[in-house]
Amino acid sequence: MAKIYYQSDCSLSLLDGKTVAIIGYGSQGHAHALNLKESGVSVVVGLYEGSASWREAEGAGLRVRTAFEAAKEADIIMVLVPDEIQPEVYEESVRPNLTDGKMLMFAHGFNIHFRQIVPPAGVDVTMIAPKGPGHTVRSEYLAGKGVPCLVAVHQDASGKAKEKALAYAAGIGGSRAGVLQTTYREETETDLFGEQAVLCGGVTALMRAGYETLVEAGYEPESAYFECIHEMKLIVDMIYQGGFSRMRYSISNTAEYGDYEMGRRVIGPAVRDEMRKVLSEIQDGTFARNWITENKVGRPHFLASRRIHAEHGLEKVGRELRRMYSWSEGE
Ligand code: NAD
Ligand code: MG
Ligand code: MG
Repeated sequence: MAKIYYQSDCSLSLLDGKTVAIIGYGSQGHAHALNLKESGVSVVVGLYEGSASWREAEGAGLRVRTAFEAAKEADIIMVLVPDEIQPEVYEESVRPNLTDGKMLMFAHGFNIHFRQIVPPAGVDVTMIAPKGPGHTVRSEYLAGKGVPCLVAVHQDASGKAKEKALAYAAGIGGSRAGVLQTTYREETETDLFGEQAVLCGGVTALMRAGYETLVEAGYEPESAYFECIHEMKLIVDMIYQGGFSRMRYSISNTAEYGDYEMGRRVIGPAVRDEMRKVLSEIQDGTFARNWITENKVGRPHFLASRRIHAEHGLEKVGRELRRMYSWSEGE
């Protein structure tokens, strides 16, 4: 059984008298900084000079410095800039200020696991990785709840690395939901696999394939959109609430019968073989090498893919339909 930590296992007081630097103020950064501050922790946000987030963070009542200055004054440094920029920000702003006794933290293990960042031996290196988008980390905290997190220790120089990481998890609200013990390797590989094969890549490819199948067969794109894309959330909400059984209790018996008979044909052996291949390319570093290389050459393939996907007909159909909802704010 995996070890899961809750509120009573975490002692926020370990952060008393310490300053936490949050480097980056994006999806995760703004949530960690604000949640920690409201939990009573001393926070400084680290950004680059001229960053658009600077005024926003100050406007939210946070203290902002350059990433270098923030890393210098902090005891705990959480790196929340995009993964592909982290090695550069680390070398320029964090590494020169990583004196013995400090703790370096990440919300995803990519750069430590694939050795793009190799911290000095005298610092603790830990991870608190929320299993949800940054904006949810914030909204759940405000609702008195929290997003479950993973905790991992890569380096324990102080002998207290895990306890301090758990205190951080308490500060962002993670321990209200549960903090699962893992390793940098497990977090990195499962997170990449999940987002590629299931949550982001898998789900959008499935919805798009369903949409295109219906449109190619001559059905109205609007019907195809409602059926294969819009309804996904309603189904997933029920699974989130009470598992597959809860969802199957709510759908018709006809839908439930079709679910059992056809689901395993659509996601058949070929898909599972491909999933195993995707996983082994994560494990052997092929995916990491490709993504690192892509960034080194200016991201031509990534940016072209972003444009091509944004131009797909289903995005236009969806925009129109969402605009017409009576409660729409036009996104
Ligand atoms: P993001 O892209 O939302 O935000 C990045 C922020 O970094 C920007 O808003 C900017 O403020 C700042 N920034 C960019 N370049 C910078 C530079 N050169 N110097 C200083 N600051 C700079 O990033 P994110 O999605 O929040 O990801 C941060 C980390 O959290 C990553 O390791 C990611 O894997 C992890 N993570 C993200 C999510 C998520 O919900 N997005 C979930 C779990 C883990
Ligand atoms: Mg993830
Ligand atoms: Mg991820």
